[in-house]
Amino acid sequence: MQRTLTKQQKEERALPGATREQIREVMTAVGQPAYRAEQVAQWVYRHGASDYAQMTNLPLALRQLLAEQLPLRRLQTVRAQRSSDGTVKYLFALPDGERVEAVFLPYEDRTSVCISTQVGCAAGCRFCATAQMGFTRNLTAGEIVDEVLSIQQMENQRISHVVYMGMGEPLWNLQQVVKSILLLNKEVGISQRHITVSTVGVVPAIYELAQHRLQITLAISLHAPDDELRARIMPVGRKWKVHELVAAAKHYTEVTGRKVTFEYLLLRGVNDEPQHAHALAKLVTGLICNVNLIPFNQVETPDGFTRPEPERVARFRRILEEAGIAVTQRVEKGHDISAACGQLKLETARARA
Ligand code: SAH
Repeated sequence: MQRTLTKQQKEERALPGATREQIREVMTAVGQPAYRAEQVAQWVYRHGASDYAQMTNLPLALRQLLAEQLPLRRLQTVRAQRSSDGTVKYLFALPDGERVEAVFLPYEDRTSVCISTQVGCAAGCRFCATAQMGFTRNLTAGEIVDEVLSIQQMENQRISHVVYMGMGEPLWNLQQVVKSILLLNKEVGISQRHITVSTVGVVPAIYELAQHRLQITLAISLHAPDDELRARIMPVGRKWKVHELVAAAKHYTEVTGRKVTFEYLLLRGVNDEPQHAHALAKLVTGLICNVNLIPFNQVETPDGFTRPEPERVARFRRILEEAGIAVTQRVEKGHDISAACGQLKLETARARA
């Protein structure tokens, strides 16, 4: 490997993050047989190796060479906060010192992690803690995968499900997100059907994602049944209209054969009235979808949003169900450890200030 690599190529050639093919290319370049690539991939993606020194079935000289050609850098755990219900919220430091959060969510029948795709976020949703930090940078596929690998190791449990619902907008980092999904699937061994990507509703990127024909679940943060209300709580609503979003969702189901999820965050007195439920039912009728209701997780916001009481949530739910819509409600966890999107990082930053 005499030629100089660009920064991007170097990032693509870091571990975790490199694909099996990319690892093979490096092996070929340094005159090694292909099976060495399988060994390295196993060490990193199956055993969570953090140093070439651990790869004792590789010759020492090769390990030293690989450390230069294919650098292995893992996330550092800054903080882990354990909830009484088993939820654990992790704050990770990336190699450049930036920080992101990820959450471990154990259930009876599965183990799930909620991961971040960007440092901060540019969407500016009025109810979201991450929005208050602004946008810093995209995560690489390797950093995204490492959130899962690190939690798997710290919890000493295999992760079965991954939700892209942490900090950031996955579809504004589409290339790295798709790469991370393929790595989680092929190398870490997580079924595509057990992976959910949640988007603020970046319409052109939904069409682009559909072209990849993945078997993942697409979740769309709708949160309002009309453009005016949606734009008030989500600035992206000014750019992409509700009917465009519904058309993109329809396209996604047609191309992939997968049901989509519409997420609907409930803010008391803002979007949780019966009229909103009726309008929502009308909007999604005929689509292959389900609606996931999310009562607002109380964070401090400039608008002073509050969480609706259970009766209001139940009323909203009933209207949808009576209209024949499939409704689920988010199983909420980790209230005692501020497990809502962006909360831990915000609190840690405030405590440091
Ligand atoms: N950017 C993506 C994924 C990250 S947010 C998206 O917008 O979908 C994941 C989900 O959490 C989104 O539905 C988001 O609207 C929701 N969310 C953000 N802040 C929340 C809060 N305080 N309480 C409940 N849900 C929240």
